[in-house]
Amino acid sequence: MENEKCGCECYETVDEPMKEESKQDPGCCGDDRDKSEVEVACGCGGDFTDESLIANPIKPEFLADAKFFEEFEKLAHLMGIVNIGYTKVSPELANPEKPLMYPQAMVLTLKMGEDIIETVPGPEAQKLNDATYAKLGTITYALSDFIRANGFATQVAHPYGGLVNFSPLGQNAGLGWIGQSGLLISPELGPRQKISAILVSIENLPVKEHSEYSWITDYCDKCGKCVKACPEKALIEQEDVCGENKIKFVKTRCIGCSQGCTYCIEDCPFDSKGYDHVKNKFDKMTAKLMEKRKGHP
Ligand code: SF4
Ligand code: SF4
Repeated sequence: MENEKCGCECYETVDEPMKEESKQDPGCCGDDRDKSEVEVACGCGGDFTDESLIANPIKPEFLADAKFFEEFEKLAHLMGIVNIGYTKVSPELANPEKPLMYPQAMVLTLKMGEDIIETVPGPEAQKLNDATYAKLGTITYALSDFIRANGFATQVAHPYGGLVNFSPLGQNAGLGWIGQSGLLISPELGPRQKISAILVSIENLPVKEHSEYSWITDYCDKCGKCVKACPEKALIEQEDVCGENKIKFVKTRCIGCSQGCTYCIEDCPFDSKGYDHVKNKFDKMTAKLMEKRKGHP
């Protein structure tokens, strides 16, 4: 994955100036990100003290039953969480400076309101953006309390914090796929969501293998609207080690966190037209291409 935002509008990929290619052999067309791209999680926020009302149990449980997951998901949806996924945090998605209590993660998404999208970047948009992070943070702590009350231990990854890299975590949890904008694109919310996570002692999370959204990468290759929409040139085309043009994110140029910019969201067809519309269009395009190829062996 070339370009991974953390779920807030600020996400780690590359800093200016563009660095020389890594001296390590990345393997042609493999993961060619330099080390700075994978070592740091979201740089949007900072450290958050645990606001859970219930303390972690001294001897936490490690196995949960189906009833627990059912009740957890029901409560999460009641609180406004749109989607829930389960995964293990792979080492490259964790911040090396902030140890994780557990690798098992429950990943949560919350819809960003219309008001943020409609407000031009500036103090007002930033206030609205911050309020959405705060709302998701509060919900995440409340859900963490529910989990602790059921005998399990938790660590909250606040959506504005830098504990884990949220967009790839959401992708690994099967909630969607990372688009060229670096944002997670989900069937329910397109690119318009904030992401948080709860790291838990539960070792039998219902983790599923997902790959049904990987076509989004091919669609993005043909689209590129977010790149054109960015007023700060924070999404730029750059040749990778294999000589292919890829989109890179220049963190220092992005005003997503500092001014609540959402231009790369509003111009994304997954936001303006919706997931199903884009998927239908992509399927038709693919079918036409296949037909053409059949006609020209
Ligand atoms: S449009 Fe550009 S500046 Fe604005 S949030 Fe997206 S990447 Fe950042
Ligand atoms: S605007 Fe286009 S290229 Fe960018 S994330 Fe959305 S679909 Fe992909």
